[in-house]
Amino acid sequence: MNYEIILATNNKHKLQEVRQILSPHKIVVYGLNDLNLKVKDVEENGKTYAENALIKAKAVQELTTMPIIADDSGLEITALDNRPGMFSARFASSQGGHDNAIKQLLKELEDKEDRSARFICDIVLLNADKNPLTFEGIAKGTIAKEKQGEGGFGYDPIFISDETGTCFGTMGQEEKNTVSHRAKALKKLLAYLKINGFVPL
Ligand code: IMP
Repeated sequence: MNYEIILATNNKHKLQEVRQILSPHKIVVYGLNDLNLKVKDVEENGKTYAENALIKAKAVQELTTMPIIADDSGLEITALDNRPGMFSARFASSQGGHDNAIKQLLKELEDKEDRSARFICDIVLLNADKNPLTFEGIAKGTIAKEKQGEGGFGYDPIFISDETGTCFGTMGQEEKNTVSHRAKALKKLLAYLKINGFVPL
């Protein structure tokens, strides 16, 4: 039997990444739109990625008894005191979109030698009657001098993975899913679901 779960997002890129990793393991992942769930706007005012993911998951829990996962993620650039970090989405909105946000970050990095950065993803699992569990994934890399590729979303066109030496923006979905922060968090979630008998080993 399939294990059905809701991903607390309307972001189709996130949904696609999560589905590609979980669906081979008999896990059916629904987005909010798929189930026509109208979640009230929540303020992501947590102090950590995990707290924000839990806020998103709890807002969905009011509408369903199904297990829920929520992801909160961000890009931390060392030379910018780890900005935009937890505010990655809000920073992009404040600049009028990711294109402008990327331009702004590249400008701020012009005179910086250290271009190291990391993507962080915290995934919270809210399973009925259980305490929430958090799974974290980190992808280390550097910020490119200019945008590369058309793939992915968000800050992908400027993030060069330490593991592959190539930019997330030039990767296909499958390749990104071997090294990304989200993939790493999801692999931990998957291990938990397998060990606890929710999905077959
Ligand atoms: P959230 O949806 O509130 O978790 O915001 C996450 C934000 O971080 C996104 O809107 C992007 O700006 C950025 N981000 C997170 N993960 C990725 C990724 O895999 N690629 C590119 N940008 C990402």
